[in-house]
Amino acid sequence: MSEWSLIGSIQRQVGPHPQVRVGIGDDAAVLASHPRELLVACDSILDGSHFDSKTASPEQIGHKAIAVNLSDIAAMGGWPETALLALTVRHGQDHEFLERLIEGMLGTCRQFGVSLVGGDTSSWQAPLAISITIMGRPHPKTGPVLRSGARKGDLIAVTGQLGDSLSSGHHLCFTPRLAEAKLICDNLQPSSMIDISDGLASDLGHICRQSKLGACLKRSHIPVAKTLQKLAPDQALMRALSDGEDFELCFTLAEADLAKLQGIGLQYSIIGHMTAKPGLHWEDGKPIECLGFEHQF
Ligand code: ADP
Ligand code: MG
Repeated sequence: MSEWSLIGSIQRQVGPHPQVRVGIGDDAAVLASHPRELLVACDSILDGSHFDSKTASPEQIGHKAIAVNLSDIAAMGGWPETALLALTVRHGQDHEFLERLIEGMLGTCRQFGVSLVGGDTSSWQAPLAISITIMGRPHPKTGPVLRSGARKGDLIAVTGQLGDSLSSGHHLCFTPRLAEAKLICDNLQPSSMIDISDGLASDLGHICRQSKLGACLKRSHIPVAKTLQKLAPDQALMRALSDGEDFELCFTLAEADLAKLQGIGLQYSIIGHMTAKPGLHWEDGKPIECLGFEHQF
């Protein structure tokens, strides 16, 4: 079974609730709250899957656990406030490692003004598992920026550079794009947004499906990570589209808003536009066939 078919099955069994504005399916849930809605998201990282405790430092692991959650709040155009931490530690894990892990987490929390307000701690025979629930507020001007809001003809933009995050080690030390999301929302109304955790093609695919549109991309406009430029150009391009854990933002905007994006100090690339034709394709009409990351069980 795949991750998305399991999530889909759960989603179909969950009915509406008066407090839930947006439930399963976006980067964070949007819950009714006064005076501003509450954003809630949860992401886990596991030893052997999202990091390797033999090579990553405890501080890096702590940073990543928080940063992947902050990235989901950024993807909603929000700002984080509080977090809960569920730690599941292997029996006999040494004390110094855990102290340093918590130091890494709290350092990143402090950097973004997040307060750790609770959690749960348990131990087992298996490797370290860290699960964080993050809460935050949407941008006061734009409200929550959903995956479903893109319109036909909207431009597609991405921040930063894409690909090679896992092999270059970027996934352990990246900066969640909160400041960038705020800058975008301070200056314009993005029609949709997602963070790139499973690969551009896969995550832009979520915007397409949820906005009931497709996307047309320009090969030469994809910001390929510098460390991939030693590869053949086609291979580097595929890696930029399908490698996971970039944690950059992909967002859409009306063409009329493009001028508002220029000159605000944001590093971005316009990579294409939204189309009525479903799916992802290149400017010459060829379909984009590459897979992102999806857990299988
Ligand atoms: P992201 O990559 O942004 O963290 P995911 O791909 O993990 O998002 O999840 C997609 C959507 O499915 C999110 O809205 C998430 O909250 C929801 N989701 C994932 N796993 C579960 C689960 N086990 N139960 C309920 N909802 C889930
Ligand atoms: Mg996300």
